[in-house]
Amino acid sequence: MMEPIVQYKDVHKSFGDTHVLKGINLDIYPTEKIAIIGPSGSGKTTIIRLLMTLEEPTEGDIIVAGENLWKMESGGKMKTANEKHLREVRKNIGMVFQHFNLFPHKTILDNCVTPLVQVKKMKKSEAVELSKQMLDRVGLGEKYEAYPANLSGGQKQRVAMARALVMKPKIMLFDEVTSALDPELVGEVLEVIRDLAEQDEMAMVLVTHEMDFALEIADRVLFLDDGVIAESGTADEVINKSDNPRLQDFLRRFR
Ligand code: ADP
Repeated sequence: MMEPIVQYKDVHKSFGDTHVLKGINLDIYPTEKIAIIGPSGSGKTTIIRLLMTLEEPTEGDIIVAGENLWKMESGGKMKTANEKHLREVRKNIGMVFQHFNLFPHKTILDNCVTPLVQVKKMKKSEAVELSKQMLDRVGLGEKYEAYPANLSGGQKQRVAMARALVMKPKIMLFDEVTSALDPELVGEVLEVIRDLAEQDEMAMVLVTHEMDFALEIADRVLFLDDGVIAESGTADEVINKSDNPRLQDFLRRFR
């Protein structure tokens, strides 16, 4: 049996008095494609922000590639991880956000090259080569010298994907990456994700409202409800066959 690439162990997250995640247990295996669905406010984004180390769990552990995200061994004792440890573990993880988060003053090529040179310490010429390959792959080969402001939302989102992909993460996180797009631009972004899901070995976690898309590409669908994983199974089991009334109610609003 393969080792999971990510493990959540009884993870809780509160913001002040708001108990958002109430005991998440989840193993994610290498190459697995997982879709997280659920009502607004159920904690979907928080689950993936925790993995990206943008938030720290209130309780519980998150293990990535065998390393505890927030704890490290030092002198035979476990203590809170330092920034260097976090940076190392984070190298396994790529994330694409709803609002792109590109560097506005850099060309799209430099948006990809900069993290490779700064974080991965790659030689500039190599970084340029790899970035061009990835931009070609997401269909932006003509646009190396364009700036984010001159691209459509769909193009910006494809740059954001290329920028995450050049880092060769073991796991990619997609947080509602189509929900800020005009409807006619959604298809081109889903097409890139579909291609990645088919071609790439990396694990993928998608928070999405695109039910048909989740059904098509996900190996496993999780229904998050009020901070717990209320249903988990194949897309067909969760989306088509579950009789959980809360899930039925949620799906009715998307169908
Ligand atoms: P979802 O992605 O399912 O819509 P979120 O994970 O974004 O849900 O949010 C879950 C709950 O946590 C919401 O009630 C939200 O208001 C709250 N929350 C998220 N981030 C913060 C924060 N930084 N400070 C306070 N409350 C937050």
